[in-house]
Amino acid sequence: MTTYRRNPHLSPEELAARALDGPDGTWVLEEVLHLFACRQCHEQLTEFERAMTAGRDADISELFPSPPPRVWEAIRAEIRAERAARAPENIGLRRWRPDSSTAHRA
Ligand SMILES: [Zn+2]
Repeated sequence: MTTYRRNPHLSPEELAARALDGPDGTWVLEEVLHLFACRQCHEQLTEFERAMTAGRDADISELFPSPPPRVWEAIRAEIRAERAARAPENIGLRRWRPDSSTAHRA
């Protein structure tokens, strides 16, 4: 049974999927023939393939460089300040210590 497309072009989703799959992807003969005949779809597929190649070749550390040491020090200082603020003696509690009057005597 042959299915007919309402739009003769391949959708951007189909072309992106083809670019992701690369040459190992499964191709339908109808799509291959359309890509050979349609300059618009062929160019869009080429753009997606270029984007995929650029993404694969990108060095993630260049996109998200490590913050400078002063940022880490500021984070540590904030954590220390929060811990100090929550310390029992700073919120009105005394640290628990064994009471000698209730300790068991041997
Ligand atoms: Zn087309």
